[in-house]
Amino acid sequence: MSCADDIRRVDDLVAAGLIAPEAAPALARVVDRFALTITDEMAALIDPTDPADPIAAQFVPSVEELDVLPDETVDPIGDGPHEVASGVTHRYFDRVLLKPTHLCRVYCRFCFRRDRVGHGEANLSEADLDAAFAYVAAHPQIFEVILSGGDPLVLSDRRLAAILERLEAIPHVEVVRLHSRVPVVDPARIGEATARLLRRRFATWMVIHVDHPRELTEAASGAIGRLVDAGVPVLSQTTLLSGVNADASVLEALFRRLVALRVKPYYLHHLDRAEGTARFRTTIEEGAALMRSLRGRLTGIAQPSWVLDIPGGHGKVPLGPQWIEKTSDGGTVGWTVRDPDGREHRYDE
Ligand SMILES: *Cc1c(COP(=O)(O)O)cnc(C)c1O
Ligand code: SF4
Repeated sequence: MSCADDIRRVDDLVAAGLIAPEAAPALARVVDRFALTITDEMAALIDPTDPADPIAAQFVPSVEELDVLPDETVDPIGDGPHEVASGVTHRYFDRVLLKPTHLCRVYCRFCFRRDRVGHGEANLSEADLDAAFAYVAAHPQIFEVILSGGDPLVLSDRRLAAILERLEAIPHVEVVRLHSRVPVVDPARIGEATARLLRRRFATWMVIHVDHPRELTEAASGAIGRLVDAGVPVLSQTTLLSGVNADASVLEALFRRLVALRVKPYYLHHLDRAEGTARFRTTIEEGAALMRSLRGRLTGIAQPSWVLDIPGGHGKVPLGPQWIEKTSDGGTVGWTVRDPDGREHRYDE
């Protein structure tokens, strides 16, 4: 689905007052390389007079994207070698990623797949989809299929239903997870009929991508509510971003609001080093300090795991923070545990 009022070209950015006309030629080069779309819903949230607007920072291109640092790559998480068929990535034993489309409803300036999303072949061909289902059917250890992309919810209800029906026919698939930004950036796309079509023989889980509490508008709350009411558990993933949400009170407000909307914060991603994304970086030290402060002030059900996808294809791991340290003295094994206020306590075994 696309909407006539979306921002898709540099001229649209100028018309919306989001960039100065003089900036257009340079940004046209950025947009040639990394796709641009901003939905109405997101554009309406931007304050064009605020140079540090956290919504603009995520979606409005910058000339800095043409500066590629030596540690930035086109495949920062090393998915390439795990691509077992076109659109199918099998990196972990019991779950596969299926990418039925390369399109998204918005293009995030920090996306780890930014070199691939938004151009080239839009959707996986029927033949490729057949091969993907055949791969899943031939691997009984595949308990979960993760629909990602791109964004699987750019597909029509008809195409989405067809994919879910094919997966329903594979008995060992017990969970289907969709990773999507659509419920937040284009909430009208998730009507009751769409929410209902997700309910299947297997458990369908939705992981929504949301980075700032302002994104959770009335309309987004409605879309999330329709999913949960239809029996689809909703989790969230957030990328830790300098200039957007690398701030304890912003993260706290975001995770609180999510839980109030019946969404379990799942992952807080440390930024992957995709090309031209240096302006969003935070350090491990900053991430650990933020996670530590959330533990003290925020309900446990609102705490996500802070994770790093180890560059080079070595997988995702939780980064901590560490609350415990081994302190053996003499023959006994002891531990020093730090509480949320920073005080240390002994825990002996
Ligand atoms: C992130 C990822 C998954 C999902 O990992 P979870 O930890 O289960 O959320 C699966 N496959 C690939 C290739 C991934 O990058
Ligand atoms: S919606 Fe997801 S896949 Fe699409 S550009 Fe944003 S981060 Fe990348």
